[in-house]
Amino acid sequence: MAQVELLTMAPLLVAVIGACVGSFLNLVAWRLPREESLLLPGSHCPRCGTPLAWFENLPIIGWLALKGRCRHCHQPIAPRYVLVELLSAGLWVAVLLGQPSAMGPNAATVPLLLAGWLLVSWLLPMVLIDLDSLWLPEPLCRHGLLLGIAITALLALPQGLSPGKALLFSHLIAAAAGLLGFEALSALAEKVIGRPALGLGDAKLAALMGAWLGPMGLLLAVALAVLAGAIIGSIGRLSGRLQRHQPFAFGPFLALGAVAVWVMGEPFWIALAGYAGAS
Ligand SMILES: [Zn+2]
Repeated sequence: MAQVELLTMAPLLVAVIGACVGSFLNLVAWRLPREESLLLPGSHCPRCGTPLAWFENLPIIGWLALKGRCRHCHQPIAPRYVLVELLSAGLWVAVLLGQPSAMGPNAATVPLLLAGWLLVSWLLPMVLIDLDSLWLPEPLCRHGLLLGIAITALLALPQGLSPGKALLFSHLIAAAAGLLGFEALSALAEKVIGRPALGLGDAKLAALMGAWLGPMGLLLAVALAVLAGAIIGSIGRLSGRLQRHQPFAFGPFLALGAVAVWVMGEPFWIALAGYAGAS
């Protein structure tokens, strides 16, 4: 009985933590491009600067309590903040329920969970900043890549020295392949169509993904990103919301692919690709 309760309580608890983290990631995505401190001062209304009371800082609930408006200047607070908190909560639960395979077959459960939560929480502000300004911050790419290598080492080496080293090496190769592959692709595309097709940030994000996902994971994530980007891009063009040649951020699609591969695991996507190929 106690076990059943724990099973139903765990996703709820994780969702609450995920929403709180999402609240902080909103702040990261706002302050990092403006080179403001992430810790001080505390959250304040972006329009009038009034500091938020503790209850207004509560994710989702705070926004609902204020009915989406600042209590001082009564200007609307963008629903994006709540959407990001909900998304973060959903991602945290997805990681909890996921079947990650990127860190080998015998990765310890709890460190693997922590790694997954760190990955989705790292990618989320990158996606928000890329959507805002078509730019992926260099420090987030670089430190995210180094974290991916360090976490791979921490999770891989306890699985035996020889398989652990092989796993770590494959992730290093994937990081390098992601960077060089995307830069080569970008240079080629620029030659063919005469203008930059991909940002350099995308290559750095691909390197980060290689470090976390390994070669097969990176390949699957990029394939998913291209597929999702093509679908959304076509819908955007057909509906007239996206002009011809208008650039759109590719980073969010890469991040989407990375999360999908982490959560569902490589075997799921390989089986799905095989099924789609056979039918
Ligand atoms: Zn205000």
